Amino acid sequence: MNVLILGGTTESSALARALAGDGRFRATLSLAGRTRRPLPQPLPCRVGGFGGVEGLASYLAEHRVEALIDATHPFAAQMSRHAAQAARQTGTRLLAVVRPAWCPQPGDRWTAVPSMVAAAEALGRVGRRVLLTVGQQDLAPFAAAPWHSYVVRSVDPPSPHTLPPGAEVITARGPFAEPDERRLLAERRVEVLVTKNSGGEATRPKLDAARALGLPVVMVARPDPPPGVERVATAAQALAWLVHQHGAAPRGG
Ligand code: NAP
Repeated sequence: MNVLILGGTTESSALARALAGDGRFRATLSLAGRTRRPLPQPLPCRVGGFGGVEGLASYLAEHRVEALIDATHPFAAQMSRHAAQAARQTGTRLLAVVRPAWCPQPGDRWTAVPSMVAAAEALGRVGRRVLLTVGQQDLAPFAAAPWHSYVVRSVDPPSPHTLPPGAEVITARGPFAEPDERRLLAERRVEVLVTKNSGGEATRPKLDAARALGLPVVMVARPDPPPGVERVATAAQALAWLVHQHGAAPRGG
């Protein structure tokens, strides 16, 4: 069965490892190309956009993709929307792998906001020391609030023109450990953390560290997923779905 995985997440890498040695599937992993040095993958990879819904639909048809797995980041809303539309147009089976969102625990001081602009507004008019872990594509609203002092952490260094003035940059790739996160928050004198509700274990320790230190968190809520798409939470569940589809698919043509 020909499978295309839209990836860039822990879940897509886990599914790629599971499919790599499985003779039932011929899988390709697609990456947006957002990170300069993506982790090595055990499957053939293609990198870069498809050219919108039409481009993805053409790719699915040309490569005779029989199952499309949308294992993109929960904030990659455009790609997920395109996947739903292209799958519908071409009659390709589609499954989304979406890790559960983080939920506040006792002791958490979260302010939930619907967007990155709202997150910048929630920081207020009085200058604060802010740790931004929102990804390098989403810094513009904070550059527009330059009275805060920012520490920006991302996998690759953001382009200088997107950074808030005077921002300190830390480049690091998870997973992170709670004691290190606590040390970072204390050493950098962070007063408030801003993060997307990405979910998952790799970057959750910053929330544990903020709770331990009594620090507030501005939590950006996820965009709505496209309606009507079947969803699972883990790579193992996605593999089970694929095995089921493989068993059900007409073969031999
Ligand atoms: P997006 O806004 O949904 O996608 C923008 C375009 O990028 C898509 O329309 C598509 O281009 C291309 N694209 C996205 N994912 C692709 C994939 N797997 N393979 C091929 N092309 C892909 O998604 P995004 O720009 O990647 O990111 C959106 C948000 O998610 C950002 O806030 C980003 O920081 C966050 N994100 C976080 C992580 C993480 O691991 N922390 C990873 C990814 C994204 P075409 O229309 O040309 O096909």
